[in-house]
Amino acid sequence: MVIPERIKILFKEYQIEQREGLHDGADDLYGQICYFDEKILLNSSCSEDQKKATLIHEIVHGLDEMYGIDLKEKQVEKLGNAFYMLHKENPNTFERGDVV
Ligand SMILES: [Zn+2]
Repeated sequence: MVIPERIKILFKEYQIEQREGLHDGADDLYGQICYFDEKILLNSSCSEDQKKATLIHEIVHGLDEMYGIDLKEKQVEKLGNAFYMLHKENPNTFERGDVV
């Protein structure tokens, strides 16, 4: 998995940016999704694995918002981890050119 520059969710196109010192008040953040600005921010200090897991987590938030699923944060965490592990355990399945 390569962290892309942008990702499209229905009619929204989120720019993916890596930033230093991402925080919410006193708390450091791994990442953040901005629905209005159509941006997904990733903390550039994190490991590549953490950034990818965070990106998937924020994408789940984006899907939740766009499709009105109404997930709770805990559900987003679990689904994000599940999708991340699904991708890790099937490394070639989601690569370009592997479409059946
Ligand atoms: Zn979240």
